[in-house]
Amino acid sequence: MNILVINAGSSSLKYQLYNMTDESVLAKGKVERIGMDTAMLTHEPTDAPEVREVSEILDHTTAIRKVMDKLVHPECGVLKSVDEIQAVGHRVVHGGESFSSSVIVTQEVKQEIKRLFDLAPLHNPAHMMGINAVDQVLPGVPQVAVFDTAFHQTMPQHAYLYAIPKILYRKYKIRRYGFHGTSHAYVSAQAAKFLGRPIEDLKIITCHIGNGASLSAVKDGKSVDTSMGMTPLEGLMMGTRSGDLDPAIVPFTMAKQDLAIHEVNSMLNKHSGLLAISNISSDMREIEEAMAEGDKNAELAFEMYTYRLRKYIGSYAAALNGLDVMVFTAGVGENSATLRAHVCEGLSFLGVKLDLEANKIRSGEVRRISSADSKVEVLVVPTNEELVIARDTFNLVQSGNQG
Ligand code: AMP
Repeated sequence: MNILVINAGSSSLKYQLYNMTDESVLAKGKVERIGMDTAMLTHEPTDAPEVREVSEILDHTTAIRKVMDKLVHPECGVLKSVDEIQAVGHRVVHGGESFSSSVIVTQEVKQEIKRLFDLAPLHNPAHMMGINAVDQVLPGVPQVAVFDTAFHQTMPQHAYLYAIPKILYRKYKIRRYGFHGTSHAYVSAQAAKFLGRPIEDLKIITCHIGNGASLSAVKDGKSVDTSMGMTPLEGLMMGTRSGDLDPAIVPFTMAKQDLAIHEVNSMLNKHSGLLAISNISSDMREIEEAMAEGDKNAELAFEMYTYRLRKYIGSYAAALNGLDVMVFTAGVGENSATLRAHVCEGLSFLGVKLDLEANKIRSGEVRRISSADSKVEVLVVPTNEELVIARDTFNLVQSGNQG
């Protein structure tokens, strides 16, 4: 079975085509600047050179049509016909309280995703455009929605409620949801598999540290807490996001600087974090380069970033009442030996001990970076959210066909 995985944004669309017989990627690519006459399609077949094309792509339906053209193209294509795509899986950021696992897309599911637009105004409408576009271009092909929030639906009430008047939860569903769930679920399962231990026996903290960053406390294979909240702004300091701050800063700044709601939103989401403190970049590679040259702002940004990570890990060890495994994943977590060493250095009170040589190796595979006498297993696990979407899609469509 071939499965197309789609991550649709408001002006972009990423795709990966999987052959589920061996879970191999046949091709991947992206369309950028949708809505413009200079949209760019980049198509990367696994066994052939990359193709780039600039053209007018005004909507998601045209974008998907162009992707189909490439997938069946005589030179850069990987399929004879689009009929060889048996199902499509979509990343959907917000599933609210309605979805605790992936689902086949039906009219009711679409309605529900629409109802959740309020909670993810930048993401869910774009995902809907992707789903509707596939409906038009590949009519009758089953689609599956895989939610970033689903894994965290197991959080207990005391972890997901904010200490604000309850009417706000009842009326508007203001609560903590958490994100990156597909990644936290995948890497915690991979960690248990690597260690050869049942996940039900393990207390795990997964650190997804990329451009966006979040932690999850995983007990019995279930998320019991996570650092992002109602939106992906809460929690750790990130590339351009502030993470936790005193909520009183928002009205105070709005009043002092005469800011509108969208301006303060943009400040906290796009102009804060590593970027604001370093004055250099939101990219950890550039922060590390600047630190190596002795830049004080970069040093401070790195110190704040890792200090907050350590504090969260400490609090999640308390939430779990112990810690067996710590997992680093995503762009920074998988690639920055410096960050991992710095974070773990301050966790000796938990019995975390790194093997500094093992920590330096980059492999693209699951690996242990803790020393033999560490009380906590520390692992680097490459995340693969697209593969989880492909697997969930495959399993749901297979069971649907059998049922
Ligand atoms: P992600 O959001 O998971 O794709 O992560 C992207 C981020 O990973 C980039 O913005 C970089 O900050 C970071 N990153 C990628 N490679 C490295 C590296 N070798 N060292 C440090 N950070 C890296």
